[in-house]
Amino acid sequence: ETLDKGLEKSKTSFFSKLSKAVAGKSKVDDEVLDDLEEVLVTSDVGVDTTLKIIERIEERVARDKYMGTEELHGILREEIAGLLSETHQGEATDFVIPEGAKPFVVMVVGVNGVGKTTTIGKLAHQFRQQGLKVILGAGDTFRAAAIDQLQVWADRVDVPIIKQKMGSDPASVAFDTLSSAVNQDADVVLIDTAGRLHNKVNLMNELGKVKRVMQKVIPDAPHDVLLVLDGSTGQNAFEQAKQFTKATEVTSLAVTKLDGTAKGGVVIGISDQFQIPVKYIGVGEGIDDLQVFNKYEFVDSFFN
Ligand code: GDP
Repeated sequence: ETLDKGLEKSKTSFFSKLSKAVAGKSKVDDEVLDDLEEVLVTSDVGVDTTLKIIERIEERVARDKYMGTEELHGILREEIAGLLSETHQGEATDFVIPEGAKPFVVMVVGVNGVGKTTTIGKLAHQFRQQGLKVILGAGDTFRAAAIDQLQVWADRVDVPIIKQKMGSDPASVAFDTLSSAVNQDADVVLIDTAGRLHNKVNLMNELGKVKRVMQKVIPDAPHDVLLVLDGSTGQNAFEQAKQFTKATEVTSLAVTKLDGTAKGGVVIGISDQFQIPVKYIGVGEGIDDLQVFNKYEFVDSFFN
């Protein structure tokens, strides 16, 4: 029910737009499909993914010869869940660390302001609550504020943080953090990175170097490269996903600020376009306002 609450805005908006699109119509015709296309696009599902969904529905209409508008909700929900199933295999509902990697190393990437630090703090809190030993690495050495903010979260959650002064080499911070994690027998390492996009080659080089240096301590690190995106920024989030996936291999996504947007469809579009699973969603500024993404719950929250 917290998910429902957090996604209230996305939900009511999508649902009411959809209801408006089919109001007074009994069957799904070209006009309804046009309206549906608009609802999906304005909910930030993205044009490509929207067309994919519309095409699937058109195929069903053509095959079945008739589709009542009252069936549309159910069919749309099925198609969207199906689409998400291409990237979301599991149905995790809890914050779990895969077995085998100790420490489990997560490199967190994303541009400034998307909620990267907050997401790291919230994640640290979740793992800490499970009794896991967590260490943070302040790898965004480009901004003093980034180091300070991560320190605030480390204090709040009561986990150690490895940091150096502003301007130092992020790869060196990563090296120190992993070494310390190994020495202290930590379970989870969350490493922040600088999120400058203005120079793609720099970003690529920097993230590449951080990775290579990490691997000197733990050969298969990082085990997860988590890209944080602000769900309220629509096309910007798509653009950032494009840039980061070009710069490094992104293995999972966190989409934040879904509490403040009427456009939760970005989760569906981004996951589909980039074929990367959304692992977490941010639904508020509080320490507990991070949830493990569950495709069924998410799709249902749109339609119930
Ligand atoms: P960073 O620059 O990417 O590290 O961004 P921060 O973690 O500092 O977050 C930027 C702002 O977004 C802060 O005011 C956060 O409280 C806020 N924020 C982060 N995640 C969420 C979320 O899921 N919902 C809302 N409403 N605000 C969020």
